[in-house]
Amino acid sequence: MKVCQQLLSRAFSHRVKSYVVRRTTSDIPATGRWSSAQSASFCSSSAEDRKAQPSMLKHLSSKIRSTGPVSVSEYMKEVLTNPVTGYYVRKNMLGADGDFITSPEISQVFGELLGVWIVSEWMGAGRPEQLQLVELGPGRGSLAADILRVFSQLQSVVGGASVSVHLVEVSLALSRLQAETLTGKRNMEASSEDDPVYRHGETAARVSVSWYRRLEDVPAAFSIFVAHEFFDALPVHKFQRTEKGWREVLVDIEPADPDRLRFVVAPTPTLASSTLVQADERRDHVEVCAEGGVIVQQLARRIEEEGGAALIADYGHDGTGTDTLRGFKGHQLHDVLSIPGSADLTADVDFSFLRRMAGGGVACLGPVTQRMFLKNMGIDVRMQVLLRNCSDPSTRKQLISSYDMLTNPSKMGERFHFFSLLHPSRLAVPKKPQGLKLEKKSPAPLPVAGFTELGF
Ligand code: SAH
Repeated sequence: MKVCQQLLSRAFSHRVKSYVVRRTTSDIPATGRWSSAQSASFCSSSAEDRKAQPSMLKHLSSKIRSTGPVSVSEYMKEVLTNPVTGYYVRKNMLGADGDFITSPEISQVFGELLGVWIVSEWMGAGRPEQLQLVELGPGRGSLAADILRVFSQLQSVVGGASVSVHLVEVSLALSRLQAETLTGKRNMEASSEDDPVYRHGETAARVSVSWYRRLEDVPAAFSIFVAHEFFDALPVHKFQRTEKGWREVLVDIEPADPDRLRFVVAPTPTLASSTLVQADERRDHVEVCAEGGVIVQQLARRIEEEGGAALIADYGHDGTGTDTLRGFKGHQLHDVLSIPGSADLTADVDFSFLRRMAGGGVACLGPVTQRMFLKNMGIDVRMQVLLRNCSDPSTRKQLISSYDMLTNPSKMGERFHFFSLLHPSRLAVPKKPQGLKLEKKSPAPLPVAGFTELGF
């Protein structure tokens, strides 16, 4: 694991004093999910509560009245990503100025360690000439910015590669925020709506940044894909085991109160309940994220064909979770069906499903807990150096509390997991040359950082 250690010391040795207090964590609850406020480029929550949310309820009710109850997946998709009134499209929900907080917003160290992971995987793949950093659901752009800063710190290592950034983002409003973070004013929206690259820009270091609505529009090339708290935002189907077999859970209008919605169980099988539940399923209630499955299949195919890796970080389980769909608003759990569009909806990621969907063409690693991944990546060493060089008491306090938030098992340390797809050659043990007894031992493949214990 020498490579990772060397990258860490090269990336951070001459900038130990450059830690920026990004967020204070004292007001963040242990689940680390939601808090509140808005950015100027988005509507204020109260204005939204008056306008967009009733219109979302109206829209869903009229849909249900005309075609019958909708699947939970369709409900979630409308609520989160409807192009006009969807939660992600309309609100700035992220960070200190938003509705919730995520690891990259808590500390830049998180993104820096992911940056080191990316460089070490690029090296493990034989340092290809082209390196596409592809992020799914980049939020405010903080993670990509922290990763790019590591690339520039490691210029002597990555310098030979042609680096470009590709962001898959459904929200035009969030793409503006990402552009501001990554490129300042050096970006433009596409003139035609049909352009798959709906925004393009350049960082101060002249790295090209492109925005897409869909992963399929990202050019095929060696890529490292990053998805942090992306898969949990994708819609899930819900299924319930009944005496008559598996039935899909649907969303209907409450008969006693037409302004309210309720869950119902479909009386007969739906296409989804007939096709998405595994024949040997043992749980009584399952959630299946078909859209996530399709995205993982695309990632696997790209990695198999073009080389690269994917790093998926999210809260989730390995095939044991049941009823995990929940809403969050202002740090509190929120009824999933109440005031649709006013709260985030999220479901735990089923990593066993992602592994199955990835198929046999790629190698899968994990899930490992965030605590283990960050410790294996050297977060303790990085923190010690930062603390040794920091005399300001409030920055020291912030450093310690962000470290605790990210790694404490009862906070984000064991709720969040890291999972990776890799090109199969990455883990292959090189064959020993036949018949040559005195031949030097073939080099083993570089261990995959984060998933293997580090000895510092
Ligand atoms: N990765 C960021 C943001 C997580 S929130 C962080 O950890 O801070 C989820 C992000 O995914 C938002 O940027 C949201 O707009 C985006 N998103 C949600 N559904 C999407 C979809 N179907 N396609 C593309 N982006 C999506």
